[in-house]
Order: sequence, then C-alpha cells, then structure tokens
Amino acid sequence: MKTYNIASIPGDGIGKEVIPECEIVLQALAANQPITFAFERFDWGGDYYRQHGKMMPDDGLEPLRNKDAILFGSAGDPNIPDHITLWGLRLKICQGFDQYANVRPTRILPGIETPLRHCQPNQLDWVIVRENSEGEYAGLGGRAHQGHPIEVASDMSIMTRVGVERIQRFAFKLAQSRPRKHLTVITKSNAQRHAMVMWDEIARDIAREFPDVTWDKELVDAATARMVNRPESLDTIVATNLHADVLSDLAAALAGSLGIAPTGNIDPERRYPSMFEPIHGSAFDIMGKGLANPIGTFWSAVMMLNHLGEPTLANRLMQAIEAVTANPQLHTRDLGGNAMMKDVTNAVCEEISQ
Ligand code: ATP
Repeated sequence: MKTYNIASIPGDGIGKEVIPECEIVLQALAANQPITFAFERFDWGGDYYRQHGKMMPDDGLEPLRNKDAILFGSAGDPNIPDHITLWGLRLKICQGFDQYANVRPTRILPGIETPLRHCQPNQLDWVIVRENSEGEYAGLGGRAHQGHPIEVASDMSIMTRVGVERIQRFAFKLAQSRPRKHLTVITKSNAQRHAMVMWDEIARDIAREFPDVTWDKELVDAATARMVNRPESLDTIVATNLHADVLSDLAAALAGSLGIAPTGNIDPERRYPSMFEPIHGSAFDIMGKGLANPIGTFWSAVMMLNHLGEPTLANRLMQAIEAVTANPQLHTRDLGGNAMMKDVTNAVCEEISQ
C-alpha cells in the first residue's frame, strides 16, 4: 500500500470549502486502490493572521518540506491588505520551495459554454507556463518619503539568465510532449528593451535544443487579441510572472469560468513538494454559501496525481470531472446553473465509483 502524504492548506474564503471537497474526492478515488492519501491540514491564512500577526508561522515551510505535495485553496481576506495575504502565505511557499514553473492548462470542458461565439471546444486547448520565481514579482523595491509630496515607490523586475533559461527549457519540453509541439514565447520586448530582449535571445538559443518544436513570438498586448480572435493558433505559451498571471485569468474566462481553472506550482527538479491550487481567489461574495464551483480544485488534483506518477488515477478523475461538467443540471451558479458545490462533489464521487 502506497501512502501519499499531502499537506492541505485551505487558506481563506471559498478555499475553506473547496479543499475539504477535494479531499473527499481523492479519498473516493483511493477506495479499492493500493494507495492511500494521508492529509495533514494547516489552518493558515486570514484567521491565523488575526491571532498571530502573520499568515503562517515563520518556520511553516518545515512541516511541508517532506510532504509529497501541497493542496492549496486561496489566500485573501477583505480586512487584510492583499500584498500581506499573498506574500505571507502563497508566495512564501512558492518562493521558499523554488516552485519556479507555474503551469496552467486551459480548455473548454464538455458542457461548458465559452463566451467566444465562433470557437469550437477543440480550438481552445492551451497550457500557459508562468515564470513563478522572479521577474515583476521578485519582491524587490521600496518606498521613501512616505506620506510626503516627494514620496517615491519602486518595484524592481529582475530577470536572471538562469531563471529565464530554466523556465523556457521547461516550456519547450512541455510543448514537445503535446501533440501540436508548438510554443509561443510572449514578451514585451519592443517597449522593455533589456530583460525582455534577453527573453527573446534565450528563446532563440533554447529552441535549438528542441528541433521538433515549432515556436513563435508574440507581444503581450497582441497576445490578448490573438487569444480571443485566433485561439486555435496557440498551444503552449510561456511568459513572465506578471504577463502570464494576467493572461491566465483571461484564458480561464474564455474557457467558461474562473471556477474551473487549475494550476500547479511546480519544482521540476523535485527538490521540494509542488503545490496545486485552483486559480480563483477567495471569492468572499459567495463564501460560506455552498455555491463555490469545486471543479478548479478537482482539476488541480488531476495535475497533482500526474505529478505524483499516478496517470491512471489522474485520467479517471478527469473523466469523472468531464462527465459531470457535461450535465448542465450539475452546473454551479458561475456557469449559469443552480447546482450547489456538494451536488458537484457527490456527482464526481459517483462517477468515480462506477
Ligand atoms: P482574491 O482577492 O482572493 O483573488 P477575488 O474575490 O477578488 O479573490 P476571485 O475569487 O478570483 O477574486 O473571483 C472573482 C469572482 O469570480 C468571485 O467574486 C466569484 O463571484 C467568482 N468565482 C471565483 N471562483 C469561483 C468559484 N470557484 N465558484 C464560483 N464562483 C467563483
């Protein structure tokens, strides 16, 4: 019997609802299989901050270090500034464990309507690879003369050759593993003439290692229009921390809802545990009402299972998810339906058991 030790960190808002549902689904998946999931829950986030003045303990990475993976809900609280919730929890884990590849698959699942009128489901099938360790979110910068008319503030974007090479190599490899074998490298190298030009140069060099992968370049502003007007021209995409952050919310919306989209914060070298989470935030407007769509979290669990080397279980869960999205009776409110979160969980568990 193989045991996977999973840290589960529900965090804030609807994270506290969807993570327990995901544990239920994973336990259903493990039933009658030679594996078990041992979840350890960490109640960090806004409530922890109110008690302790920090989002997670200073030595909080230690109990996570030897886990096989981390399941994360969301970090965000209406009464705590966003930069505190984000840096104090999610980014502390991502950067602490050098999870430098943020992988965001997007496609239109069966039964889900895209706002793109002319797009067939098979024309939108992307994976966005986001640089997750430096760039615009490196955390460097500062403020001086605070509150005075001469106040100055800066956020410094840092791109290292090592950081850019490793994320582009990861993206080329991922593109190579997909049927289309095509990568689009997104930058803003017309206006940002230093680091972004280095991105382009490094892409050209890394591309030589992958002669079977076709690739092209796109500026980030043009990329938004291309995603809407020619979705079928894209397959695997690599972009900086900020650019990919923005593009992947657009991608999720084009695929039907923010509530469906998954992501993995991956350490490709497997020195540390990787972390899997839905891309949505805390969604305080629907918190505690049982209305949250748990599909983004379940799909994140599919990514986790693949990462753990359990592709058969991953496929089984993905098939169950797709069977459920195909039924409009099981659509939550974000998808225009009336189903509750529990209905979706129960239906996925039922599909799994069949
Ligand atoms: P944060 O500040 O933590 O990012 P947010 O509330 O600003 O959170 P999101 O949580 O990403 O932003 O979502 C924006 C809106 O989309 C929410 O207010 C909610 O109505 C809807 N939404 C997001 N995720 C889901 C979900 N899983 N199920 C249903 N609706 C959702």
